[in-house]
Amino acid sequence: MLFIELFASIKVKYENNLAPEIIKTIKIGNIDYFNVYELNKSFLSKISDDIIDQRLKIFMYNDELIFLLESSYLNFHSKLYNFNYPIISQDGKYYLPVYFLKKILPKLYPQKIKFNGNDIIAKTPVNNSIHTIVIDPGHGGKDPGAISYSKNNFEKTIALEIAKKLKKKLLNNLDVKIILTRDKDEFVSLQQRTQLANRENANLFISIHCNAHRKKIVNGIEVFYLSTAKTSEARAVESLENSVVYNFEGGQEAVKKYDDLAFILADMAQNEHLEESYQLALNLQSNLVNTLKCYNRGVKQANFYVLRGAFMPAVLIEIGFLSNKEEEKKLINAKYQDKIAEAIFESIKHFKYKYDQM
Ligand SMILES: [Zn+2]
Repeated sequence: MLFIELFASIKVKYENNLAPEIIKTIKIGNIDYFNVYELNKSFLSKISDDIIDQRLKIFMYNDELIFLLESSYLNFHSKLYNFNYPIISQDGKYYLPVYFLKKILPKLYPQKIKFNGNDIIAKTPVNNSIHTIVIDPGHGGKDPGAISYSKNNFEKTIALEIAKKLKKKLLNNLDVKIILTRDKDEFVSLQQRTQLANRENANLFISIHCNAHRKKIVNGIEVFYLSTAKTSEARAVESLENSVVYNFEGGQEAVKKYDDLAFILADMAQNEHLEESYQLALNLQSNLVNTLKCYNRGVKQANFYVLRGAFMPAVLIEIGFLSNKEEEKKLINAKYQDKIAEAIFESIKHFKYKYDQM
């Protein structure tokens, strides 16, 4: 087959003022084709092939296009589309006819892609990979959080130490931006914490806490994701963590603010991410329990104010009970805090790799 480079191209313009991208075209036989991988920079798509199944998959705008290799058909939302000339593979590259760009793409994404003369007019694609992570050390300033068995240590201090260690590990090992909701001993309202995460377009929200129980013997680790609390134990932790609003943000009036309509709507935003939050919580729970050899209290659901209103997967880690004598000793130990940060880091890494490949 004859490949002729003509240095012809199709311009991809975006609805906002983002600089346009170019898709180079070549002649194969007598037909205009383009290299499929050119789509990655124009549409931030992800491409995978499966030689055994003879499939090529392109993931873009949160949807999957499945091509049958060497045919001129693709499957989109269980419907077949014919792009007239077969997909061609050569030296590990795949080529699609320009006809696909001009006629098929606008049909698949009528709200997002239009073809006009020799240009594609496209909605700006969103980068789907995990690029910004918010770490939220609980409490701070006038709100100490849980007070330890010995009365000498506060949840706010330990949560901040772990958050800083986690931040360092993430920055050293992953290509991500890390934002702490506080990096010193200061009071930050629960609403400010999620607002910051939303404003920064974060893809992940990790809240770090220590637990307390009036029975000093209670110990262990539990990871929560947002939902209505399912058990009375979960409800107890929920009301403990939510009590900051009543105690430090302005009594009943402040509580009402969190219960208003805006927050009910925000709950629905979090609903979209429940499955991802749940998967992350499961992985965190098992990593933490295996690394720290602590009692496994399991993954739980509760309605934490601090997770409500987060437009991204969000979890809350209760890393141990400060009210328990043994766990207090461990939690204030810098080496133990390192281990905690390492286990959380491993789960985030796992989550990011899985998520980025979608
Ligand atoms: Zn807390």
